[in-house]
Amino acid sequence: MFKEQTVGIIGGGQLGSMLSQAANKLNIKTVIFSDDKEAPAHKFCNKFIYSEYSNLNKIEEFVNLVDLVTFEFENVPFKILEHISKFKPVLPKPSINQIIQDRFTEKKFIRNTIGIFNNADIRLTNYALIKDKSDILKNKDLLPGLLKTRTLGYDGKGQLIINNEKEIDKLELNLKKEYVLEKKVNLKKEISIIITRFSNNECSIYEPVENHHVDQILRKSFIPANVNKDTLKKAQQQAKLFAEKLNYIGTMCVEYFIDENDNLLVNEIAPRVHNSGHLTINAYNVSQFENHIRAICNLKKVELNKIHNAEMINIIGKEIADYRKKSFNKSEFFFDYGKKEVKDKRKMGHLTILES
Ligand code: ADP
Ligand code: MG
Repeated sequence: MFKEQTVGIIGGGQLGSMLSQAANKLNIKTVIFSDDKEAPAHKFCNKFIYSEYSNLNKIEEFVNLVDLVTFEFENVPFKILEHISKFKPVLPKPSINQIIQDRFTEKKFIRNTIGIFNNADIRLTNYALIKDKSDILKNKDLLPGLLKTRTLGYDGKGQLIINNEKEIDKLELNLKKEYVLEKKVNLKKEISIIITRFSNNECSIYEPVENHHVDQILRKSFIPANVNKDTLKKAQQQAKLFAEKLNYIGTMCVEYFIDENDNLLVNEIAPRVHNSGHLTINAYNVSQFENHIRAICNLKKVELNKIHNAEMINIIGKEIADYRKKSFNKSEFFFDYGKKEVKDKRKMGHLTILES
């Protein structure tokens, strides 16, 4: 008989909600640990623990309730994940998070992978580590560029565009932080690969998704991507190499740029389910969320089957009000994340439209 499992999820936003719903479908219980009392996942989990992430008593209570732990966002302090892993398995493993939650060590990992898989043609944007303004001056060949904080950035937060040398003087840098300066790529396209790796080294790789960003926030994603087949195949192969090299268990995402000369460049890796994979809920037999739960709970891999082409539109900030009043036809799926507070640039929901 299959033993009933309970998964602990750190973070209670929309990703935690969708992970909990996927687990429910598989008869797996979830306990959400969140530092937001009103976190949306409240509604979908079997138990909700509200606490600061650093409260070790609450962590102990959480750990005692679950068989294993995963997380919905990569910025969970590494020390906390490492602490939890002394008592229960944490998947994907904390050392992966440690690498990826810091843009500089993430890029070093990717560089290292390039060295190992020479013929995979893995490329990155040009970048440099920045500690103060003089480092920007030393790297002015990277301008125009994007200055990104090493840690804690998401949805374009913690990013500044520097167009030219003259703008360096006016910049307000927080000297307690370190940054990565990346040369601005003349983007032709952006794509992402959602991949789930299971403990027996088998992988499920979804069809590449094309992504459109506005003001550094994902606006829409769709399949099929309008990009040549060789590039798409290469992106999938590279994502598989990253997942293998990391010894990753669960669902992850690799974001890519395609520049004006059709070069494929790795932008970043997300060690979690990803916004660009939301369309898999309606477009596939198995969603990225279900696959994550299957992989971390050591359930059987189910062959992926795309049922529909699809487009997903993010609903941001005040836009949610109109969607809440709308009616939808049977090929449209509206997801309201149920966030109490409407904030500018906050992802409030999404709409997936299936191609008939
Ligand atoms: P986040 O962690 O916020 O997702 P990203 O580094 O992925 O940060 O940046 C968000 C978006 O900003 C990208 O998807 C892309 O549209 C744009 N962007 C980021 N870096 C660059 C770059 N070097 N050149 C051109 N556009 C960029
Ligand atoms: Mg990104």
